[in-house]
Amino acid sequence: MRIDLHAHSNVSDGTQAPAEVMASAAEAGIDVLALTDHDSTDGWAEAALAARECGVALVPGMEISCRTSEGISVHLLSYLHDPEHPGLLEEITKAKDARYTRAERMVSLLAEDYPLTWDDVIHHVAPGATLGRPHIADALVAAGVVEDRSEAFSSILTSRSRYYVQHYAPDPALAVELVRAAGGVPVFAHPVASARGRIVGEQTYHEMIDAGLAGLEIYHRDNPEEGRALLHKLAQRHGLLVTGSSDYHGAGKPNLLGENVTSPEVFARIEELGTGSSVVR
Ligand code: AMP
Ligand code: FE
Ligand code: FE
Ligand code: ZN
Repeated sequence: MRIDLHAHSNVSDGTQAPAEVMASAAEAGIDVLALTDHDSTDGWAEAALAARECGVALVPGMEISCRTSEGISVHLLSYLHDPEHPGLLEEITKAKDARYTRAERMVSLLAEDYPLTWDDVIHHVAPGATLGRPHIADALVAAGVVEDRSEAFSSILTSRSRYYVQHYAPDPALAVELVRAAGGVPVFAHPVASARGRIVGEQTYHEMIDAGLAGLEIYHRDNPEEGRALLHKLAQRHGLLVTGSSDYHGAGKPNLLGENVTSPEVFARIEELGTGSSVVR
């Protein structure tokens, strides 16, 4: 069984529609795929239909953008939560809305130095999608400023760039609590991805664990080897599940479906714990 628990569609910053993501998973020999768009569950229905057609089991999921009080970005995966849970829905809606204002600010700063307009960016966003820096990157690629998204993220769009603007994002412990309240299974995504920006200290792990964190995504290409020892230690000490995933974004990132996988035992445990929605087979 090949189980990949982290993938994006064009409901956020992936480049394929949810049904296309499921078809690509089938082609890649994946048996179980979680669709985890940023701050949105809008792709679940389309992915569920496609799951049955192409014989890949779908784990309905989401990746919630969070920020600690120290300003450190944290991504929290949620599996099998109730997409209608009011508290959780309120937080992700607030973040999703704030992403538009934030992108407008970034675009007006970028427009001082590069040939870029708001329309150029919106052109790359599917209707209603969660708007992010990758869409700004796509517009910069189209304008010939950079070669691809990766080049944009290693230069103009890094979190250390002068064009970078933050958006509202819930505290990670609050997000963990809300995911649990919604019957979901909260897993800390790529916790030590230091190339993306500052990473959290042990205090934040403990706050998230106290709030009900279920697992750590240790097998992910953005977690450097040297950061993984701490994660294994925390997982062992606190009985956390250990997952592995690709973080597939279609053509938007080099990450390939199934490049990291989760064990059948851990997947079974996630399915047992998740009570807000069901795996689609
Ligand atoms: P945002 O949430 O708008 O701040 O943008 C962060 C998103 O950009 C993350 O979800 C990543 O998937 C994506 N991202 C980060 N680094 C890269 C990269 N090097 N290439 C493509 N996408 C990236
Ligand atoms: Fe992304
Ligand atoms: Fe992420
Ligand atoms: Zn992701």
